[in-house]
Amino acid sequence: MEVSRRTFIKVGIVGGVGASAFGFNLGPVYAQTQALKISRTSETRSTCPYCSVSCGVIIHTLGDKAKNTTAQVVHVEGDPDHPINRGTLCPKGASLEQDILNDRRLVKPQVRRPGSDHWEDISWDDAIDEVARLVKKTRDETFVEKGGQGRTVNRCEGIGWTGGCTDTNELNFLAVKAMRSMGVCYFETQARV
Ligand code: SF4
Repeated sequence: MEVSRRTFIKVGIVGGVGASAFGFNLGPVYAQTQALKISRTSETRSTCPYCSVSCGVIIHTLGDKAKNTTAQVVHVEGDPDHPINRGTLCPKGASLEQDILNDRRLVKPQVRRPGSDHWEDISWDDAIDEVARLVKKTRDETFVEKGGQGRTVNRCEGIGWTGGCTDTNELNFLAVKAMRSMGVCYFETQARV
């Protein structure tokens, strides 16, 4: 059989399940390369952050976490022991490694000022101060003490809260306490953890 570039790529794809154009089965070789990739990694169990299905994932990391090394994520896969997904992931979850290893990923807070057309870097301390100031200002301006029938309602109608699917019960417990203490009514999470 003549092996063209196209045939070679095709062989690579089907090699995991059948015989190849070279007359031998590439399946074991393919399985071996997969095993080698994660043979020295640390496994961390986590939850896919994308939707409320909350599939379990295993994050494989190289590096022993000593002070003079930087751990490097090398592979992310579905967790076969997780009761929700049993090792499967949808295409979004299967691309999680590209979400982690992405030079366009934001790792610091940014702000876009009213009327501005661009985002500015801001320190964590300044970001927390600004959020606190705006929360207080919004609450002061939108707090409703009495409802339409004159009953005391004490609600804040100008702030809403949405939670991510990786928020734990503990975080959501604190979020409920914090938001309800300010009178926030519009509150939703997609916690399944
Ligand atoms: S893997 Fe897909 S279905 Fe599962 S939580 Fe992530 S986005 Fe949702």
